[in-house]
Amino acid sequence: MTAHILDGKAIAADLRIRLKARCDERAARGLRQPGLAVVLVGDDPASKVYVGSKRRGCAEVGIASYEHDLPAETSMSDLLALIDRLNADPAVDGILVQLPLPAHLDENTVIQHIHPDKDVDGFHPINMGRLVQRLPGPRPCTPRGVMIMLEHAGVELAGLDAVIIGQSNIVGRPMALELLNARCTPTVCHSRSRDLQAKVARADLVVAAVGRTHFVPGEWIKPGAIVIDVGINRGEDGKLRGDVEFDSAAERASWITPVPGGVGPMTVATLLSNTVDAAEARDGG
Ligand code: NAD
Repeated sequence: MTAHILDGKAIAADLRIRLKARCDERAARGLRQPGLAVVLVGDDPASKVYVGSKRRGCAEVGIASYEHDLPAETSMSDLLALIDRLNADPAVDGILVQLPLPAHLDENTVIQHIHPDKDVDGFHPINMGRLVQRLPGPRPCTPRGVMIMLEHAGVELAGLDAVIIGQSNIVGRPMALELLNARCTPTVCHSRSRDLQAKVARADLVVAAVGRTHFVPGEWIKPGAIVIDVGINRGEDGKLRGDVEFDSAAERASWITPVPGGVGPMTVATLLSNTVDAAEARDGG
């Protein structure tokens, strides 16, 4: 293997230490704990795991986490009423509604109901617009976490040709904007893109966010490229695997993220970071 590992677990642990220091410093100044409301509707097992790790992360860095576990049959009006209360609650700096929601609840309506300043997932159209226009605001956690990893590795991004595979609102699109803002030249690929292999083979930086195990063969990777694997796919054996064939890609890449232990832990740590940022912004820094 020639690639350096981008160790998301370690970088996320380092970020949490810095966040704890910021929370401790607030407490020393007599300021309240940052507060994150975590709303879980229904009992999807994967969502429960994600919510659990977010709540544990809060406890570790000194963020107060307010748990709202609602039954799967919760009505839209009840969910929006809860969000109204959280929007108005001075103890709450961030509101996270775990997705996916049960089918009868419209995710866009829910996301747009969260006050943009408390939208620590960065999914509100106002915050996506801020990202487009390079204005400050909460940024979607997975792409922001990837950027923090790349900064940590000291990789020079300006001028790189980047290929992002996947165009979702939560990963692919904001990832392309983050990389554009870092002065890469991004190409966003999706299920109708032609000749994906040729596009990947030209890329200095590849971000895979498809959701299919080992979708990108290692031999597609340009020697020396940076490989970011966002995919989380649970096999029948219960093991987590990424979208990239790790072993063969690591023979060619300069940097690569493992799955698990790569992008996943960064997403959670970035959510905590967005919450501390929101608390500081509300208190004037
Ligand atoms: P999604 O299903 O919304 O999007 C998948 C994308 O893949 C789509 O844009 C689609 O066009 C594209 N795609 C499908 N087939 C393709 C093909 N043949 N060629 C090119 N593109 C193709 O998924 P998502 O929510 O963006 O998540 C993607 C993956 O990332 C999933 O495995 C998810 O679990 C994972 N994920 C991980 C984290 C993390 O923290 N690590 C966060 C979010 C999502």
